[in-house]
Amino acid sequence: MIEICVLASGSSGNCIYIGTEKARLLLDVGISGTRVAAGLRAIGVSPWELDGIMITHEHRDHVCGAGIVARRFEVPVFATELTWEGIGNTIGELPGWQRRLLDKKTGLQFGDCRVEFFNTSHDAADPVGCSFTTDTTRSWKVGVATDTGVAGPEVLAGLAGADLVVFETNHDVEMLRTGRYPWPLKRRILGDRGHLSNEAAGRALATLITEVDRVNRPNRILLAHLSKENNRPELAMAAVTRALAARGVRVGVDTAVSLTYRDRLAPLCRVG
Ligand SMILES: [Zn+2]
Ligand SMILES: [Zn+2]
Repeated sequence: MIEICVLASGSSGNCIYIGTEKARLLLDVGISGTRVAAGLRAIGVSPWELDGIMITHEHRDHVCGAGIVARRFEVPVFATELTWEGIGNTIGELPGWQRRLLDKKTGLQFGDCRVEFFNTSHDAADPVGCSFTTDTTRSWKVGVATDTGVAGPEVLAGLAGADLVVFETNHDVEMLRTGRYPWPLKRRILGDRGHLSNEAAGRALATLITEVDRVNRPNRILLAHLSKENNRPELAMAAVTRALAARGVRVGVDTAVSLTYRDRLAPLCRVG
């Protein structure tokens, strides 16, 4: 069994809770400690039970509350060496036992949960996506890939076999192009080391389901990291539904697709 709850998603803050029978984890803490504690309590988890915080990359919307939560609830924080360099002192001081190195090749193990990492393509020092797999007889897997300009073979391989996938649908290309962001920022978001558009995400998910993962396709997809300025939930949903339908995958029949919202606690999803 794996439980996942997206506590917050988007450029104003990201934080995902993942729980198994023997592990309680957070992926990124880009919201306040108060919000994390309230979000966890709302799903019946005490922040004191947390076993670890993993950081995908050093951008503020993924780390700004990590130091506070780590210190307040005595939780170790895991990031790659380059990501720690990128974080610098932005999250305050952490004692040695809480400042832990994440080795992408070996991954991490917490109780019955194995965490594996893959590279994403983003303008950060060493950005990663990851997957959580249980050691149980029938193993369950959740994969998370956001903040990536492209979702190539490495990302899709990292998500292969997942029962539930959290995937970025950051922007609608037309809204971004015609929107009020300055051109350098638009270029950054649209670039290979930026963020996935709704259409690109739809195509990648279609490839994941129909080519990479035909046998054990995800039966649930959560669309995440939607831009407040350059996207609308119905556009993200329509683009993904269209891309999947073009490859013969029926949303709601073959695979359930739902959205995560910026400032709203997404419902707790249980896998297994
Ligand atoms: Zn982000
Ligand atoms: Zn980022």
